[in-house]
Amino acid sequence: MFFPMRSGIIFWVLRLALCLSIAVVLGLLVRAPGAETIKADQLWNLWPQVRVWKSDPFRMRHGDLQRELERLQRASGGALQMDVVGRSAEGRSLTLVQWGSGRDRVFLWSQMHGDEPTATTALLDIMNFLTAQSESPSVQLLRRRLSLLILPMLNPDGAERTRRRNSQGIDINRDALALTTPEGRTLKFVHEKFRPHYGFNLHNQNRHTGVGDTRLPVTLALLAVPFDKEGSNSAQRLKARQVCTILSETLSPYCKGQISRYDDAFNVRAFGDQISASGTATVLLESGWPGSGGEEFLVRLNFVGLVSALLAIAEEKVDSADPSVYDRLKQNQSGGIFDWVFQKVTVWSGDRIEPFKTDVAVNFSDVFNAQKVRRRAGMIAEVGDLSIFGALKTTAGEDWVLTASALGSGSSRSEVFPGGQNLYVYKKRNAQGPLSEANLSLYGYLKQGEWHQVGPQ
Ligand SMILES: [Zn+2]
Repeated sequence: MFFPMRSGIIFWVLRLALCLSIAVVLGLLVRAPGAETIKADQLWNLWPQVRVWKSDPFRMRHGDLQRELERLQRASGGALQMDVVGRSAEGRSLTLVQWGSGRDRVFLWSQMHGDEPTATTALLDIMNFLTAQSESPSVQLLRRRLSLLILPMLNPDGAERTRRRNSQGIDINRDALALTTPEGRTLKFVHEKFRPHYGFNLHNQNRHTGVGDTRLPVTLALLAVPFDKEGSNSAQRLKARQVCTILSETLSPYCKGQISRYDDAFNVRAFGDQISASGTATVLLESGWPGSGGEEFLVRLNFVGLVSALLAIAEEKVDSADPSVYDRLKQNQSGGIFDWVFQKVTVWSGDRIEPFKTDVAVNFSDVFNAQKVRRRAGMIAEVGDLSIFGALKTTAGEDWVLTASALGSGSSRSEVFPGGQNLYVYKKRNAQGPLSEANLSLYGYLKQGEWHQVGPQ
């Protein structure tokens, strides 16, 4: 009597297993399209194929951007809709790109500061991705769920000159109330017309910014843009913090976690703050130090981060992101990093003081000529105890001797002083030997900001 019972159980177990497998297979079939969206690593690997601007982002001018936009519009078969929504003070067109037909409106604008071009090229790469991968589940999902509004290079006159301000000499990001700049008025017009749910305000920041007190340079800084002086919270600000968490978690593995939280002081004249105050969940993204990867590394990070954030919005994953991950990011430390620090070296400064041991920092800034060729101009940035700061390069030891004028030139020795553009770096031939011209060999020198290498690197 046990036998039939057991076979009965086996029959039911088998039948249940069969039903389960059918359900699983059906589930997979039903879920297959659109279920698996593209992951950060896949985006990272895809980027070289969808990359549009293949040289230094700083070299792109308005004419280049227009050419690329027109090409992308044609390639998209009209999916990327482009309209001139304004003109710069010098009459250059400001193009708004619209894509998608979804419920959530997301507005991304870049290069409000003319010398901050990283995100502009990343936005072109995103448009190319949306076009080239239009049949992929991820792009189809984005198209169904989102309406993208993209305004690349808001300050084309500044971009032409590789400088922050527009051609009126005004910082557009301090013009949100006065609206003296046509570029600022255009930004406000677009924002008011579309009332986006999410805003991405895309910038570059000085590479001399540190991640809190870690002495590491910031690769990316994030800010859930405040909407009042108190730094209050709201449903929108919470969403902005959650998007910052998504950006941070997505991009940390690619930049060793060198992501910081931007200063959250409310700035009433700034656009991000005003746009946040009007109820848009606004995220500020600042691209900083590129490391050894160069500017294109930052473009790639922008591409991967922004597409991942858009997908998270489309997949309604923002609400489940933990905002405290963003809150715990270390603060952006402005001036926390120097390009080159000479640590505990001998400074032979002026004619009247004894040589002494201290730290000296040199910073280089990028200077562009009319042809947009980049040159690095150096300057003594600081003298004194620099032990709390980070350095991208260090040279240490008191057998290194720094002067502000060449030895043996017959003239009096000038002072090693912040702001100076001349610095001579010597090394003692015999470390124990005397501090004399005969015992010093020239390693290199900074003359009117230009570095000349003499000794071996
Ligand atoms: Zn900026």
